[in-house]
Amino acid sequence: MARRPRKRKPRKRRRIDPQELKKIMGETVSVKCAFCDGKGKDPFGLLSTLSDCQVCLGAGKVKVRKPVTKCAFCEGTGIQPYTTSRLHCSACGGKGSVTVIEPAMDCPTCGGTGVYPRRPHPMPCHTCKGQGVVPKRQLVIGEGNW
Ligand SMILES: [Zn+2]
Ligand SMILES: [Zn+2]
Ligand SMILES: [Zn+2]
Repeated sequence: MARRPRKRKPRKRRRIDPQELKKIMGETVSVKCAFCDGKGKDPFGLLSTLSDCQVCLGAGKVKVRKPVTKCAFCEGTGIQPYTTSRLHCSACGGKGSVTVIEPAMDCPTCGGTGVYPRRPHPMPCHTCKGQGVVPKRQLVIGEGNW
């Protein structure tokens, strides 16, 4: 009786090292605070002209997790568009930059503008949260097929 060689299915499961995961998830870059243009002061001087910027708390820089793209909703200005209120952008929190999961594609809901046309003031698009782009595929951490 011939022994049938057991066929082994090549099952490659890439386990993600916690260190590696930390590196992927935790890598942040320092970018210039868009709201105050890196000056660290409230650009509108709402409380006082000496007030610290409410976005970067006076640092002039903010940390954004990589990969970073320009906020589509405010076009990177950090200021809430379409209103006269002098608030920071509700899509990026005033940073002007947002994290995008790659590969990304233009948001099908807003066509990449990041804007949801609501009256009286447009809002950040619900689908892409104002980023203008959405991840092409869902990132499933721990399953190892990405
Ligand atoms: Zn600032
Ligand atoms: Zn923004
Ligand atoms: Zn959208």
